[in-house]
Amino acid sequence: MPSPESSPEPSPQNSVGDDRLLVVDDSRAIGIAVTRSLQTIATLPVDYADSLQACEVLLSEHPGRYRVAVVDLNLPDAPDGQAVDLVLGNGIATIVLTGMIDASLHARIGSKAIVDYVVKQNPGAIETVQRDVRRVLRNADRKALVVDDSGSYRAYLRSILQIQRLHVLEAANGREALALLEREPDVSLMITDYEMPEMDGVHLTASLRNRFSSSELAVVGISGSDDSFLGVRFLKAGANDLVRKPFLLEEFVGRINTCLDHLDDIQTIRDQANRDYLTRLYNRRYLFDAGGILHKSAQRGQIRLLVAVLDVDFFKRINDTHGHDIGDRALQALARMLQDNSRGTDIAARLGGEEFCLLAVNVDNPATYLDRLRERVAAMEVPLRDGSLRFTVSIGASLTAGSNLGAMISAADRALYRAKEAGRNQVAFE
Ligand code: GH3
Ligand code: MG
Ligand code: MG
Ligand code: MG
Repeated sequence: MPSPESSPEPSPQNSVGDDRLLVVDDSRAIGIAVTRSLQTIATLPVDYADSLQACEVLLSEHPGRYRVAVVDLNLPDAPDGQAVDLVLGNGIATIVLTGMIDASLHARIGSKAIVDYVVKQNPGAIETVQRDVRRVLRNADRKALVVDDSGSYRAYLRSILQIQRLHVLEAANGREALALLEREPDVSLMITDYEMPEMDGVHLTASLRNRFSSSELAVVGISGSDDSFLGVRFLKAGANDLVRKPFLLEEFVGRINTCLDHLDDIQTIRDQANRDYLTRLYNRRYLFDAGGILHKSAQRGQIRLLVAVLDVDFFKRINDTHGHDIGDRALQALARMLQDNSRGTDIAARLGGEEFCLLAVNVDNPATYLDRLRERVAAMEVPLRDGSLRFTVSIGASLTAGSNLGAMISAADRALYRAKEAGRNQVAFE
C-alpha cells in the first residue's frame, strides 16, 4: 500500500496561508532529495508521494492547496504521464521530471501546459527544480505586459506567460502600452512586437526607458523580420533581450526567466542594503532615507505623520532565561506584527537591538491605534519547546512634524523613556 508522506509542519507563522508544494516520484532517493531542496527555498510544507495513487490521496486531502508540483513523468502505476495530467487538471503549476529527452518526448511534453521539464540525470537537475519552483512562486506577484497588434498572437504569448503564473496585461500598440504603464507602473516584464500601428516596439522601448530602468522593467523585443539590424535597434533602444519568430518555447521561456532572475537579483541587493537581516524589516538607513520624504510631506501639511518608537520590556531577561535564539524569535514575531499592522504608505523599521520605529501616515486616532498595537503584542505567543513566551513593549510617540525626522524620533524616544519609568507596557506621547 503506497503511503503519502508529509514533512513536519513549519511553525504557523512561517507558512503563507495553507499553501503547499507537492513532489511525486517513485524513486524515494529522488523524491526525498527534491523534497529537501524545496524545504530550503520556501516556508511552505512539502508533501511527497511515491505513486499516482499516493498523489491522488494527497490531492483529495488538500484540495486547492498545492501551488506547485514537481512530478515524475513515468510512474509504475502511471506509465504515460497520467500523474502529470492529474496534477495539471487540478490547476497546479507543474514541473516535470523525466529521463533522457528525445524529439518525440519533447513534442509530447511540449503539448502539455507545464512550467518546465527537467532531465533527472543532469547534474544540475535539483538546482534547476529549485530555481523553477522559486520562480513560479515569485511570478504570482509579478505582472507582464504583452504588446502586439495581432490579437491571436497576444493570446498565444499570454498563454505561455500564464503557464509561468505571471499576471498578464495586454496592449495592441506602443501608445496603448505607454498609457497602460501609467496606470500600472508595477509591471515587471514587457514582451513587445516590432511592427505595430501608432507606435512600433523600438519607439515604445525608447520612450518608456525615460521612466523605467532595465532593472525595474525588463523588455523583450520580438521580431519576425529578417532584418538582423532590427535586433540591434531594439537593444540600443534599451531592450533587455530579443527573440526572433518563430521560436522554440524553451528558448523563449529561458530568456524571460533570465530577465526575471536579473530583476530578482537587483531586488535582493536592494534588500540587503535596506533591510535588517534578522527581521527583514527596513533598517535605520532606509528609515531615514524614505522617512525623510514622508516627513517633508508632513511639514507641508500634505499628510499627518505619526512616529512611534517601540522597545521590548525586560528583553535582557528573555535572553537570559530562554537563550538568544528565543530572543531572536521574539524579535521576529514582533517585526511581523508591526508589518501586519502597517499600511503600504507606512514604514516599519528596526532601529537596532530590541528597538523598533513605526512611521504611520494619516492615522485617525493615534492613541487608540498604538494602544491596540501594544495589546496585540502583549497577547502574542512565541512557541517554546514546552509552552510559550509572552512579552510586552513600551511605546513612545510623536505627532509634531519638527525640523526633521531625527527630531521627531528623539521626541518619541523621550516619551518612550517616560513610558518605561511609569511601569512599562504602555504608550506615552511627547
Ligand atoms: P527595558 O525594559 O528597560 O527596555 O529592559 P531591557 O532588558 O529590554 O533593555 P536592555 O537595553 O537592558 O537590554 C536589551 C537587550 O537586548 C540586551 C541585548 O543583549 C539584547 N539584544 C540586542 N540585540 C539583540 C538581538 O539581535 N537578538 C537578541 N536575542 N538579543 C538582542
Ligand atoms: Mg532598554
Ligand atoms: Mg528593552
Ligand atoms: Mg532598548
